[in-house]
Formats: sequence, C-alpha cells, structure tokens
Amino acid sequence: MDPEEFRAAGHALIDWIADHRLAADQRPVLAQVEPGEIRAGFPTSPPDTPISFDALTALLEERVVPGLTEVQHPMHFGWFPSNASLASVLGDIASGGLGNLGISWESSPALTEVEEVMCDWMRQLVGLSDRWHGTIHDTASTTCLVALLVARERATGLEQNSGGLQAVDSPLMVYTTAEAHSSVAKAALLAGYGWDNIRTVDIDPQTRAMVPASLEAAMAEDLSAGRIPSAVVASVGTTGTTAFDPVDAIADVVERSTSTPWIHVDAAMAGTAMLLPECRELWHGVERADSITWNPHKWMGTILDCSLFYVRNGTELESVMSTNPSYLQSTADGAVTQYRDWGIPLGRRFRSLKLWFQLELEGIEAIQTRIRRDLDNARWLEGEIESEDGWSVIAPVALQTICVRHVPPGFTSEQLDDHTLRWVRAINDSGAAYLTPARIETPDRLGSWAVRISVGVENTERHHLVALWKLMREAATSSLS
Ligand SMILES: *Cc1c(COP(=O)(O)O)cnc(C)c1O
Repeated sequence: MDPEEFRAAGHALIDWIADHRLAADQRPVLAQVEPGEIRAGFPTSPPDTPISFDALTALLEERVVPGLTEVQHPMHFGWFPSNASLASVLGDIASGGLGNLGISWESSPALTEVEEVMCDWMRQLVGLSDRWHGTIHDTASTTCLVALLVARERATGLEQNSGGLQAVDSPLMVYTTAEAHSSVAKAALLAGYGWDNIRTVDIDPQTRAMVPASLEAAMAEDLSAGRIPSAVVASVGTTGTTAFDPVDAIADVVERSTSTPWIHVDAAMAGTAMLLPECRELWHGVERADSITWNPHKWMGTILDCSLFYVRNGTELESVMSTNPSYLQSTADGAVTQYRDWGIPLGRRFRSLKLWFQLELEGIEAIQTRIRRDLDNARWLEGEIESEDGWSVIAPVALQTICVRHVPPGFTSEQLDDHTLRWVRAINDSGAAYLTPARIETPDRLGSWAVRISVGVENTERHHLVALWKLMREAATSSLS
C-alpha cells in the first residue's frame, strides 16, 4: 500500500470508526455470540489474493462487529471504565503512522523525550512531587512484575541478579491483601517468590483495606523466622470494591522495621481520581512509596495500552533492568534516558503520543469535569439503592464502584446467591446493560455473591443510571416470580 492508497483508505476507516462510535448505544452491550462463532466466520486458510479496502470493511462489519462487547456503551457498568477517548485514538494512529522504533534514545529521540515530558505532565496532574520519574508500560500487570523484580534485588543486594534463584537461603516475602488484583500474585510468581511466600495481610471487614498492625505482625514474624520482607503491594483502589490500603500507615510500618521492603502502590484504576485534588487524601503517604502505577487507559480514557509507572529511585530500577550490549551503546549514553533499561521490552511503541493528543485536544478541565460527574452519579445511585427496601450497598463507595445486593426476606445463603446470579445474568444476557457479578464475602452476611456496578464510561449520563436502576429492580422482581 502506498501513501496515496493509504490516504483514501484512511479517510474511509476514520468515517467507519466514527459511525461505529455514534451507534455504540444501538448495539447490545454484551456480545451476543457463542464460543467459536467469530472464529467460524473466517476461512480456515489465509487468503490467496488481496481484496479492496471496501470489501475488507464489509468483512469487518460482518465478521468482527458481532463479537464486540461494547465497553464504550453508556450502559456498560462491568469490570472498570475502559474508555477510549477519540482524541487519544488519533494519537495512537499518529504513533502507528510514524512507525518509529523505540529501542534506544538514538533510534527515536522524540519517542524518548516526549515520553519523559508526558510522564512529567501526568505526575504534576496527580499532585506527585518532582522526586518521581516515570515511564509508560503496556499494563499494570507488567509494572507490578517490574516492581517486584527490583524489590527482590534490593532485598538481596543484587544477589539474585548474579546467582539466580540459587543465591539466597532465606525466603523473600511479599505482602498484600486478598483484595489485591490477581496480577499481584501473578507478578510475585513470575518474579520467583512463590505462592508460599505471598502473605495475605488481614483486611478491615468494613473498609476491606489492609490492616497496618497485621502487616507489622506478619513482617516481624517472618523476620524472626529468618525470612526477608521484600515487598509490600498496597492497593489504592482494589478491584472488587475500590478499597484503599492506608499507604501512610504502611510506610510507617516499613520505616519501623529492620528490613527495607519495596513499597509498590497499585493505583491502576483509582489513579485517575487523583486528577482531582479533593481525592488525593485517598492515597495519603504515597510520596513514601518506592513505585506507583496507574492506568490512564482505564477511567481517564487514554486508549489501551497506557500504564504509567513511577519510581523514586531510577538507579535501583536501572541496575536490575539494564544489560547494555555493545550494539545498543551510543555516544549519547549518560546524557539521555534509555527506557529499555526501565522495563522488560527492548522495542517500545510511541505511547506518549496518545496521552499528549488527549491532553491537548480534550483539555484536563473537561477530563476532571467528567470524573466529577461520574463520582456524583455513583453517589446518586448509592443513595437510591440504600433507600429502597430489600436493597443494600455492601461496601463503602469511595469512588465510582458500587457493590450491591437484593436480599429477599427469609432466604438462605444458597437461595440468595442463586437469586443474585439470576437477576444479574438476566440483565447481562439481554444486552441492555452489563454488570459484573463478583464474590464479595463478609462474615456477617448471607451468601457470597454481589453485583459490582462500575460507573465511568465516557457517555454514561444520569439518565443511563436511572434506566439501570429500573432494570435492576425489574430483574430482581422477575427472578422471584
Ligand atoms: C485493572 C487493574 C489491574 C490490572 O491492569 P492491567 O493494566 O490490565 O494489567 C491491576 N490492579 C488494579 C487495582 C486494577 O484495577
């Protein structure tokens, strides 16, 4: 394809995307396909001859669109807001179109330096001090792995780097809670800590946040048994209920200890709230952590993938991540940032462009206004649910996630779980809205299933919540009949 053919097809593709977005609320939220159905729409072997761009868009419509779960649909309340701001999509297209290669500063000085600027702008926008230095990764899963690898090396004085898994006799320990995202355990396993050495610290039954005294006791017990506290992963906005581990108190515990575990703050989802000064109390003490991650690619709306990773001490990170082979060395070394030494991949995309485009074209004020709207909407729905007989909100609503149940009188735990799953599945299967059923067990309650409502899609307005609340009451009533 030459640039002129690209120009024509590109215009047509942009039109197609714009039409698709305009009609997002006309399609079912949850893809209405059976497993294997999309795959079966494709020929079993690759094409022999090229087709026209128009023919390809027709195939895109026919074969792919039915298999899309519409996370941009204003009635999508599942998982987390996975916004894909069109301003950032343009930046992503620019990134692809430039086709630059990020393997060193020299291979694209702009790719490195725009990323430095964007990380610094984003740092300021969430109120972090200038002691933090950032980079952009694909996902928070990757950043947690990177953090735990550096933590491992700090705990062993770089011994793992030289002697590998055989180098230490004492187990290295990671502390987190059962509410932490599954990527935390995955990172701990990949970094070689092992299931046995992941400590799930107690949570407060009301707030579902880590109890600092339990962390302190666990670390002390490990130290006296010859185990080495190496990392604490604090969730700032847990996946289940958006609970906030108390970062400042956790830092106090670490400071009092004779060990020096790395504190990683996982704010993947809730980091967006820190764009609002009034929310920053929720991560009070964050300046005392060693690393922080948050995903503009969730609620803020930068198109996937864009996960910011900040460290206070870049030297520690680079000492673990750098290999510096001769073919990548250059005269600029020492004077420039080599992002390959800040993470796992060598080749990196020009991800900062999508952040830059979004900030320039949307403006931070509009983004802040949208986040505040979502917080208001969540509070409104919480109030409606709380004041309705039989309905309850089962965890504090710190931001925009509401965990709810409908409890008919006299139900056993089993009947209640069946009822919860029946009404939520009826809504999801209908395609009218999507909510996430989740196990949220509390010792004082019947049943273990609840329904998570995550507010925050770019186009979700108050009237969509009104419609959702009506759907919920109707579905719960039908489930009983
Ligand atoms: C979404 C989320 C993750 C995982 O994010 P990815 O970028 O998809 O890896 C991790 N932690 C928390 C708290 C999350 O909300």
